Amino acid sequence: MSVCERCGLPQDLCVCEAIARESQKITIKAEQRKFQRVYTIIEGIDNKEIDLEQLTKKLKAKFACGGTIKENKIELQGNHVRTMKETLIQLGFAPETIIMRSDHGM
Ligand SMILES: [Zn+2]
Repeated sequence: MSVCERCGLPQDLCVCEAIARESQKITIKAEQRKFQRVYTIIEGIDNKEIDLEQLTKKLKAKFACGGTIKENKIELQGNHVRTMKETLIQLGFAPETIIMRSDHGM
């Protein structure tokens, strides 16, 4: 069984990631790129504390869209800004750590 290197507890008892989820400063915004494509960008999540790969996988499944991780930012295809905050809260992030930015009038 693997043990958390931070608290020393077995991974299934460890709450380090749960605590980390409550102390992030997350920004959600929509970004328009060339060819009128819109991406939802989630930035500010500490990839040392949160498994970005896993999170991206969950979000891609939830929104049924493509997505990648670039420089610690999650980029999802399509504009999911309106529902993203609620989704992140459902995944255990604290509401007060999530900021929504509406650039480009979106
Ligand atoms: Zn731990």
